[in-house]
Amino acid sequence: MRFVLLGPPGAGKGTQAQALVTRFGIPQISSGDLLRAVAREDSDLGREFAGYMDRGQLVPDEFVLKLISERFRKKDARSGFILDGFPRNVSQAEALGARLDRAGLKLDKVVAVMLPDEEILERITGRRTCRNCDAMYHVVFEPPKKPGVCDKCGGELYQRDDDGEDTVRERIKVYDAMTRPLLDYYKRLGLLAEVDGKGRPDEVEKRILTVLENIAVPSQDSAGGGSAGS
Ligand code: ADP
Repeated sequence: MRFVLLGPPGAGKGTQAQALVTRFGIPQISSGDLLRAVAREDSDLGREFAGYMDRGQLVPDEFVLKLISERFRKKDARSGFILDGFPRNVSQAEALGARLDRAGLKLDKVVAVMLPDEEILERITGRRTCRNCDAMYHVVFEPPKKPGVCDKCGGELYQRDDDGEDTVRERIKVYDAMTRPLLDYYKRLGLLAEVDGKGRPDEVEKRILTVLENIAVPSQDSAGGGSAGS
């Protein structure tokens, strides 16, 4: 199964992707996580990426596409993936479509997790991320068992540099201008399903599962089998 999670910053794409990884046995491919890994490096490219991200702007397509392409080549992505944060504009969506076409593959679904602007800020400013494994928490809605410590790996939780209010407002603007048009793009392709992102993570997950219900899910046995079929 190959699908995309779309939606504004803070809509819960990352949280949902993490839950779905366990359920479907396919990896989450998060462009934000891939870019943050490079941004943490002490290199010119790392500093360049961090600059774009801290301003709330998109990292140029050529870099993002290269990272995504490399990630697709890993063995665990053969049987499917959940894309989170990619594609983020129409040209990235076209590049993704072309790449899948060449491999004789297709997307099964694009799930847009919708959330009104006023809730986005509340969610993002309370968000905490694990420095080690990128797992996400919210100080009120999804607190870790021990404050400041990741439940999954014991890593330190921090507030992302781009989760401050001014940057979040810029990210919302960039979403409206660049990413929102993808809703129409995927609607025309007959792939779009919109789900309400309000409520608890498990409630949102249920809505997503309903949308994905009709898609054939490989059994756990065949999930790691590396079939190139769609
Ligand atoms: P969110 O969905 O909450 O905005 P992400 O982790 O997906 O968080 O993205 C954080 C930042 O990483 C974005 O503001 C942008 O600078 C960069 N980024 C992530 N994905 C892409 C992408 N596909 N293309 C360009 N820039 C990206």
